[in-house]
Amino acid sequence: QSFENFKLNKQLLEAVKEAGYTKPTPIQDKAIPLALAGHDVLGIAQTGTGKTAAYVLPILFKAKYAQGQNPRVLILAPTRELCMQIEEAVISFGKYTDLRYVCLFGGLGPKSQIEKLKAGVDIIISTPGRFMDLYKKGEIFVREIKTMVMDEADKMLDMGFTPQIRAILEVIPTKRQNLLFSATFSEKVERLSTEFLEFPERVEI
Ligand code: AMP
Repeated sequence: QSFENFKLNKQLLEAVKEAGYTKPTPIQDKAIPLALAGHDVLGIAQTGTGKTAAYVLPILFKAKYAQGQNPRVLILAPTRELCMQIEEAVISFGKYTDLRYVCLFGGLGPKSQIEKLKAGVDIIISTPGRFMDLYKKGEIFVREIKTMVMDEADKMLDMGFTPQIRAILEVIPTKRQNLLFSATFSEKVERLSTEFLEFPERVEI
């Protein structure tokens, strides 16, 4: 199996090649076609398995090009560090697209994050807390979000982000594609996945 077998475009395949990826990892093999086909995906995979590219590539393919003012993709992750790693993947795989992104997390003033939002973004990568803060301040228009990812969902729940996640799910459109990745399938994750995902395809490695 190679990346060329996926229904991705030239811009993405070139960026994948330049990243030095020659062969998809097992989670990428399973999750990429399902995500491209529009399914909700429940991925049980740890860090180091290539889970980031497994959802970033389909997202970039589906978002295609910069469009309008408002975000269409929301990626939630538990920590600033993970958000920044995801941002790096978006930068590296999105280098031949004009897609705009912003990485939102706490621990510093929101000024530059708000400026980026105002300039227009297609993809938001955020911790649940900072996303809700900026939403409540009226800085994020959420009605155009069509794809939502939760990465390291188990960690987000363990860190106590359940109220923020619930609040986010209440304000974003219900008609959307959802991708949930978690290192473990705990009872909490199971409960979240039944609330969050619709007829999910489960992939496990
Ligand atoms: P992740 O599990 O997404 O944190 O990825 C772990 C590491 O594996 C990262 O450094 C990725 O750049 C790398 N990686 C992911 N997929 C591939 C691949 N198909 N070929 C080579 N390296 C990869």
